[in-house]
Amino acid sequence: MNHKFNVLVIEDEKNILDFIVKSLTAHNYKVTAAATGTEALSLVTSLCPDIVLLDLGLPDMDGSKIIEAIRTWSSIPIIVVSARTQEDEKVHALDLGADDYLTKPFGVPELLARIRTSLRHSNRLNNDSELYKKPYRAKELEIDFLKRKITLDGQAIHLTPIEYKIVAYLAQNSGKVMTYSTIMNNVWGPYAESDNKILRVNMANIRRKLEMNPAEPVYIFTEVGVGYRMLDDESM
Ligand code: CA
Repeated sequence: MNHKFNVLVIEDEKNILDFIVKSLTAHNYKVTAAATGTEALSLVTSLCPDIVLLDLGLPDMDGSKIIEAIRTWSSIPIIVVSARTQEDEKVHALDLGADDYLTKPFGVPELLARIRTSLRHSNRLNNDSELYKKPYRAKELEIDFLKRKITLDGQAIHLTPIEYKIVAYLAQNSGKVMTYSTIMNNVWGPYAESDNKILRVNMANIRRKLEMNPAEPVYIFTEVGVGYRMLDDESM
């Protein structure tokens, strides 16, 4: 494999930047760094990176401004890097079009996994929608999107149409965190209530049907205060 993925890292804290650059370079990524938003915006247009890692707290501008700017012309994956104190900003960033997030401090395996998932999703979206028709498979769970059929260990699982929509949407975005509002908009449409109670009620029912122990889910995980993340598709 000769092609190296080009990662633009936008981060003003030198020790975190050094850690990211070192880890990614060691894993065969080509890394370019920017310490300010202004520098980042000029690099993102000249470099056309494959993926962007974005610290939300930059000295010269709010990281969400960079997401908005990039999203006016490009769908390149953006992973937001945030501090624990920036919970609200994180959800806002995802709703603006960021693909995923990492909360500081994070380790190398987590960093690499998030990057791989986001790159895979952007490839999948860029190619064509055919891959969306491929069944989802993870552990004992299988979803056939064409037949709208869900099986667990070979046994058919009966979901309501709404429950199916939620699970299918999460499965088609498996490995990625999906915010409550993104899921609600996708399932109930743009006039969905802003209260996510209906989603949480449906999720409780889904878990009763899918999970051996709904309190310790293995297929659909809760990202507290953000949304849900479905176990990565093993067939990808
Ligand atoms: Ca910072």
